[in-house]
Amino acid sequence: MIEIKTPQEVKEMRPAGKFVADVLTELKDMVKPGMNLLEIDDYVHRRIAGREGASSPYVDYAPDFGHGPFGHYICTSVNDAVLHGKPYDYDLKNGDLLSLDLAITVDGWVGDSALSVVVGKDKDPSDLKLIKATEDALAAGIAAARPGNHLGDISHAVGEVAHKNGYSVNLEFGGHGIGHVMHGDPYVANDGRAGRGFRLRPGLVICIEPWFMKTTDEIYQDENDGWTIRSADGSNGAHSEHMIAVTDGDPIILTARK
Ligand code: MG
Repeated sequence: MIEIKTPQEVKEMRPAGKFVADVLTELKDMVKPGMNLLEIDDYVHRRIAGREGASSPYVDYAPDFGHGPFGHYICTSVNDAVLHGKPYDYDLKNGDLLSLDLAITVDGWVGDSALSVVVGKDKDPSDLKLIKATEDALAAGIAAARPGNHLGDISHAVGEVAHKNGYSVNLEFGGHGIGHVMHGDPYVANDGRAGRGFRLRPGLVICIEPWFMKTTDEIYQDENDGWTIRSADGSNGAHSEHMIAVTDGDPIILTARK
C-alpha cells in the first residue's frame, strides 16, 4: 500500500532526514586511505547511540534479499561492491570508490540516503564520471517528482541520465517508499516509461536511488557475507540517494546535505 503523509507527518520526518544527512556529511569529510570499514561502522554506531530517540533499522534487518540480520549500522560498498556492502575488516586505499548508504530511525521515522566518493588523491576520472552520473540522475529524478507526474516520469528521468552517460540500468533494486518502515511501496525503478504508474501527489515520501556500474548491468551477491551486491564483471559501481517529499510545488529533499 502506498502511504500518503500529512504535512504534519512530513514535518515529523525532517529530523530523521537531517540526522542521516549530518552523519553522511561527517563521514564524507572523514574518509581517507587507511581508514577501516569497521571504524566507519563504529562511528555511525556511536552517533546513533549518542542521539536520543535514534536507532538503526539495519542491525536486525533480515529481508529476503540478504542472509540473516545485517548486524551493522551502515552499508560500505567498495569498488565492484555497489549495494548493501557489509562492513568488514578492510583498510581503505587511495583511489577506492566508496559508497555509503545510511538509514537511521529518529523518533519512529526512518531517514535514508547514500553517497559515493573516491578515497584519497588518486581519483580515476572514470570513477568520478560514474559518481557524477548517479548524482545527475538523482537530481533529474527529484526534478520529476512533482504532482501530476507519474512514478514512471521519475524512473524515466533517472534512466535517461544513465543511458546518456553510456551506462545500462539494473532493475533488481531501486528506490522505495519510506516512513515508519525503511522499505515500503512504491518501488521506484531506475528506468521506466514516462507517464506510467502511480500518479504523484503531495505527501508521497520516497527514496530515489540511482546506482550504476561502469560496464555491466549484471550483479551477484557475495556468498561470503550473504549481503554485498557486486558487479558481475568486476567493474566499479556508484550510488546516490535522497529521501524526498512530493509537495504542491518543488519537492522537499529531506536528506539534503549542506
Ligand atoms: Mg534506500
